Amino acid sequence: MRVKLAKQMGFCFGVRRGITLAERVAKERGPVQTLGAIVHNRQVVDRLAEMNVGVAHSLDEVEANRVIIATHGVPRTVMDEARQRGLEIVDATCPYVRAIQEKARKMHEAGFQVVVFGDRGHTEVVGIVGWTDGQAMVAGDADDLATLRLSRKVGVVAQTTQSIMDYEALIARLTAQHLAACLELRVHNTICNATAERQAAALDLAESTEVVIVVGGRDSANTRRLVELCHGKGVPTYHVESAAEIASSWLTGHSLIGVTAGASTPDWVIQEVIEKIEAFEPGGV
Ligand code: SF4
Repeated sequence: MRVKLAKQMGFCFGVRRGITLAERVAKERGPVQTLGAIVHNRQVVDRLAEMNVGVAHSLDEVEANRVIIATHGVPRTVMDEARQRGLEIVDATCPYVRAIQEKARKMHEAGFQVVVFGDRGHTEVVGIVGWTDGQAMVAGDADDLATLRLSRKVGVVAQTTQSIMDYEALIARLTAQHLAACLELRVHNTICNATAERQAAALDLAESTEVVIVVGGRDSANTRRLVELCHGKGVPTYHVESAAEIASSWLTGHSLIGVTAGASTPDWVIQEVIEKIEAFEPGGV
């Protein structure tokens, strides 16, 4: 069984930075917690737990006098409350996410109706909306624009993990439907390069392999996006969190399997998946 790897996959800059920061704080200062999972990957969270980095699901659960903000960021009110409680804040928000929060805040303060193109309820999107005093509207796709009541000045940002094609479609629809009624329409391309590169590499992989296995957390938005894109190419695509989930029926009858992984998937988990596929013998997994 041959395995072809996506040209770009696995840990991105923001995830690597966040994990390194958390490890360093625990090592130098003692047990600490992240507010929510530092990244949406169970193996990473489990490994950090062994290194004295736990997870607090709210500020009430924070045990030490410091807290780590996860890579997806949080609303401004959460930062303010942490400070009011006297907690030292270790901010592991990815700088690219932080930049979106600032763009959204500035546009909101300048009187723009902010639209966030993203997954409603996703931590990153909740955080961005929180930097507009909760006033930003969330559009999950171009169809959602029909239900939004937009003002004369409209500013748009995208969740870092969205697909650029979908963002283009949303902006095209927004322009067609609302530009005539707008004084100003401001669009920021805030899709992360790491995301865009991994998506392009996944599409290449889907075109050149018989089956694609995408490795990453079930809650990981960027991993799920890779799955959707490969599905869209018509290639059988499976999402696994670990090698143990691979079923022999997925591989039977094929000789070239593509493997890609989300930006929060650690190398060792990807390696286990590769080894399991390479060792596959029909009837053996
Ligand atoms: S995918 Fe991009 S925005 Fe998200 S954590 Fe990684 S570098 Fe940051």
